Amino acid sequence: MTVRVRFAPSPTGMFHVGGARSALQNWIYAKQQGGVFVLRIEDTDAARNKPEWTEGILSALDWIGIARGSYEGPYFQSRYAGEHRAAAARLYESGRAYHCDCTRESVQARTGSQYTGYDGFCRDRGLTPGEGRALRFRTPDEGETVVVDLIRGEPTFENRLIEDFVIARGDGSPVFLLANVVDDVTMGITHVIRAEEHLPNTPKQQLLWDALGVKPPLWAHVPVVVNEKRQKLSKRRDKVALEAYREEGYLADAMRNYLMLLGWAPSGDREIVPWSVIEEEFRLADVNPSPAFFDEKKLRAFNGEYIRALPVAEFIAACQPWLTGADTIAPPPWQPEEFDAEAFAAVAPLAQTRIAVLSEIVPNVDFLFLDSPLIDEAAWVKAMKEGAAELLDASVAAFEALASWDAVSIKSALEAVGAQRGLRLGKAQAPVRVAVTGRSVGLPLFESLEVLGQDRTLTRLRAARLRLF
Ligand code: GLU
Repeated sequence: MTVRVRFAPSPTGMFHVGGARSALQNWIYAKQQGGVFVLRIEDTDAARNKPEWTEGILSALDWIGIARGSYEGPYFQSRYAGEHRAAAARLYESGRAYHCDCTRESVQARTGSQYTGYDGFCRDRGLTPGEGRALRFRTPDEGETVVVDLIRGEPTFENRLIEDFVIARGDGSPVFLLANVVDDVTMGITHVIRAEEHLPNTPKQQLLWDALGVKPPLWAHVPVVVNEKRQKLSKRRDKVALEAYREEGYLADAMRNYLMLLGWAPSGDREIVPWSVIEEEFRLADVNPSPAFFDEKKLRAFNGEYIRALPVAEFIAACQPWLTGADTIAPPPWQPEEFDAEAFAAVAPLAQTRIAVLSEIVPNVDFLFLDSPLIDEAAWVKAMKEGAAELLDASVAAFEALASWDAVSIKSALEAVGAQRGLRLGKAQAPVRVAVTGRSVGLPLFESLEVLGQDRTLTRLRAARLRLF
């Protein structure tokens, strides 16, 4: 039997990191089993779907290594409405489903509660199909439904506690529970690896598989992803969109490595491992079923390590979208013609060890490409205290006199300027750094000045000095 798994996102918003994690787990499982990964876009809810969300899913998957063209699909659920309706009709004709004209209010009036679910009122009324009549699945009165879950063992559900649930609405349109099963049946899915949130649907869906006469798949419900307060990650409260991480400058390799650690870990106390190791070692059976903490700080640290591990040339290439502006990444504050690739290459190794996400490259190097630096006013006020004007004057004089413009000479010139005033180098550096780069923190100063050049450094020091009058 060929293993066939599927990833079945609904295109109702930005692509969620939890979804990306499930997609990767499906992807790896298929690969390990010599199976097939199917992508199905569950777009039946026309009111909530937008084509751009679908495009976002495809490109986000592509980014984390599930490349377009390397899987089966995408299939679009909305195109299978005929199959969904036909299955609903079959279930009705075989007596496994019945029509029901109850309203929520009438059920509540009879049961006296809004929580008990459907009371089976229409089970034996023999209602024929008709406008406003939903179709309900007749759940068995006895027995149990045992879900075979590769992560959770065998969650068991008593059938008498499963209400007769709706499979098609009053207007005849099938609901998610049914459409999802019919598609899985049609697409020959053997393993359903999906979010824990769907576990309550699973006994109902397994009953549908049985009723349609098909052996149910094996299931794996992967743990819910939570924030530091142990709340389920939500798109209203938390940063959940994979796109947002990508735009901020997370590397795809760091991201997918981190995502796979949500509920699982490679052998030997390691966390940062090559993708090939993950592909080899990952086992669904080893996934921890408890909620997985999405620790953004840890992800950031992870990303920093991945950035530092890149060969410099790759780091330079990886920075390009932030240096030029691309797709959804905002353009930098300088004009394209102001950018100097050689100057950038000279400071890139210094930046590589200091940034955790690629977008941080921009504030670190903008001073090189702007005519005059963007001044951080708070940093200015702090650095330009008493004595700053004189220090800048002395620095101008000392720097002008330098015959060789290199980091070592610049440093000793400024050291001498500071010493004359009883200042340690750190103190003497502060006004110079703010005058030249606009900020109080950044790349090592003397290397930066070397790359910026003697003339431009002097111009900025003089401009800052004028501002102090
Ligand atoms: N469209 C469903 C979702 O995005 C998928 C459910 C499933 O994987 O079975 O949650």
